[in-house]
Amino acid sequence: MAVNSEREILDRVRGSMRGKGTGLALGIGDDCAIYRPRPGEELLFTTDLLIEDVHFRRATHSARDIGYKALARGLSDLAAMGASPRFCLFSLAVPAWADARFVGGVYRGLLDLSESTGCPLAGGDLARAEALTCDVVACGSAPRGKSLRRSGAKPGDSIWVSGRLGGSALGLATNRGRARRRHLHPEPRLALGQFLRNKATAAMDLSDGLSLDLARLCLESNVAAQIEAPPLYAGATLAQGLHGGEDYELLFTAPPSCRIPALHEGLELTRIGNVVAGRAGEVYLSGKRLDAAGYDHFKRHEQS
Ligand SMILES: [Mg+2]
Repeated sequence: MAVNSEREILDRVRGSMRGKGTGLALGIGDDCAIYRPRPGEELLFTTDLLIEDVHFRRATHSARDIGYKALARGLSDLAAMGASPRFCLFSLAVPAWADARFVGGVYRGLLDLSESTGCPLAGGDLARAEALTCDVVACGSAPRGKSLRRSGAKPGDSIWVSGRLGGSALGLATNRGRARRRHLHPEPRLALGQFLRNKATAAMDLSDGLSLDLARLCLESNVAAQIEAPPLYAGATLAQGLHGGEDYELLFTAPPSCRIPALHEGLELTRIGNVVAGRAGEVYLSGKRLDAAGYDHFKRHEQS
């Protein structure tokens, strides 16, 4: 028997959210959740799949790690656009090997993060499947017209990153130390995203590696970029910092006249280069063309 019952798990989930001031008019228990938007806010939605052997391996990720990461990816997308989390929906498909304890661990990991970030779980589904599959929908809000986008970078803007890059790739490669924790428990940069709302001209989160993600931002903004080496996580190689995925730091652009502090709530912010006019999407590292070698699911699929 893999899973006791959907009811038992949903009761646990519901119990853990009880008494929270969620802003949801109706959460788990009915056919739909109800959210009443506040005046003057716009809602942002993102959806992410987390699939065994595509996005994570069971050998390295505990049940709690899986639940945590499933939501962290969605929250990082909200952070990228300057949104405050409002609620999330979580669907889980479990294979036969996953027992009730494992499934409970996945929910626990998700709920730990949902509670610490004020993003209550408002609903979801549970089913069986061949591979463990998590599907998270996260909803956030921002003052109307103030959400950050990838498309606003202008030639002359400075390019910034938060934190240090390559830690997640290092943790994936070595599976030990602080870098391992960095890989398993990325921190969505929600406070920074909200701070940047009236400052950044463009922003996104670094999920697939700086080289690929910066090229994507430039493509959306119809500009090119010139950068120097980014700040590296201790022990990470330059290649890991440039091309490694899953750092979930923020990449953003701002006019040079905009004062960006070196630290925001303890998180380092580093200027790595400039937006330039040029062929859309081209990135130059120390004057040389940088190929976008970050992680691209479909590219890899075509090659295999
Ligand atoms: Mg993203």
